[in-house]
Amino acid sequence: MTNVSFRELGIAEPLLFALQAENYVNPTPIQAQAIPHLLAGKDVLGIAQTGTGKTAAFGLPILQHLAATPGKVVPKSTRALILAPTRELVLQIAENLRTYGRRLQLRHAAVLGGVGLYPQIKALARGVDVLVATPGRLLDLAKQGHVRFDQVQFFVLDEADRMLDMGFIRDVRKIVGALPRTRQSLLFSATMPGDVTALASEMLRDPVRVAVTPVGAVTLDAVDQRVYFVEAAAKLALLSRLLADPSLSRVIVFTRTKHGADRVAGILEKASISVAAIHGNKSQGARQRALDGFRSGGTRVLVATDIASRGIDIDDVTHVINFELPNVPENYVHRIGRTARAGARGIAISFCDSSERPFLRDIESVTRRRLARPEGEPKQAAQAPRQAEQRHQPRQPDSQRRRAPHRGQNRRFHPAPSSPQA
Ligand code: AMP
Repeated sequence: MTNVSFRELGIAEPLLFALQAENYVNPTPIQAQAIPHLLAGKDVLGIAQTGTGKTAAFGLPILQHLAATPGKVVPKSTRALILAPTRELVLQIAENLRTYGRRLQLRHAAVLGGVGLYPQIKALARGVDVLVATPGRLLDLAKQGHVRFDQVQFFVLDEADRMLDMGFIRDVRKIVGALPRTRQSLLFSATMPGDVTALASEMLRDPVRVAVTPVGAVTLDAVDQRVYFVEAAAKLALLSRLLADPSLSRVIVFTRTKHGADRVAGILEKASISVAAIHGNKSQGARQRALDGFRSGGTRVLVATDIASRGIDIDDVTHVINFELPNVPENYVHRIGRTARAGARGIAISFCDSSERPFLRDIESVTRRRLARPEGEPKQAAQAPRQAEQRHQPRQPDSQRRRAPHRGQNRRFHPAPSSPQA
């Protein structure tokens, strides 16, 4: 948190009320850095991940601009367009913006796949001030003539790196190409690989660059991180042993696959633990019910895959358990960022079998820290041959090592562009 106030940053009264009601006392660093530039009308390139308060950083100035120029909304149009890669994130952003703007007379809509088209068509028919959307569904609606982009004054591309990893680049380019040239644009990304840099330079005009919480820094400091070395067949027993401790009261368990998530959830359910699974094969309704149950405290354990995890923004998650280690180190950071939110502390426990030792090495290298080993290192024989091979390879610079596994391996685990919003 920072020492300035939202008022000092230039935020106006109706929004200050909403922030007070949300108990936001001081702006987060990304808010303090970005808000004055955005209020001044500058384009912004924000390097920040979810959990830093970036939604309010871009949302508050846009809402304030919209409220200050209460122009007539044009049917089938929007004045502000926010693109996000997953359905959960779209719903999360849309809900936050409605909350912040509840004292303003603005019309909001959300457009996302996996739910019926008709309510979205209806919401767009009269035109809206704020539209939050996933790119695939938005383009479908545009092709069918239900939405056009010529009234967009404010454009936000959120989680740009994830957007490109999920294969949305062509959709994003099409949408950007249809926007008016005179507009204010923002791009947020947790990392800045080359393709995101290229997109930013196409999309932004003389942007101000603001950066907070680089991977491996602040967010991770609030998380107590441990690793248990356990063979795959013994992971369920270890999970049950850990869950016997009632202090694990709100737990997210991550698996690498949807099938794995269902299997773990099924077994916990048999053990009478209140559990729900959330992943790309679940309907939007089922995902939302799972999230609502977890948020209200009715469900103790949420089993999730990486893609479904992005929009999980639930306070007071006591523990994140990596039942399987992610093969992409950035996903580890995103997973453990589900705990220790909004200033709280959290615990992240990772299970590592012998085949996952290389993933652990990558994670420790990217986060530049060694995870605690409560039960010590495994015996030498348990190590994977692949790890022994890798030890002899020359070390690459960090920047290359982080992106290399990310690009290739993500393709295997992310859905094809035709079924994008997992
Ligand atoms: P975001 O990075 O936008 O997903 O925000 C992460 C979390 O921080 C959300 O739960 C927000 O409600 C919360 N948050 C955002 N800004 C503030 C603030 N200034 N003070 C306290 N909490 C905040």
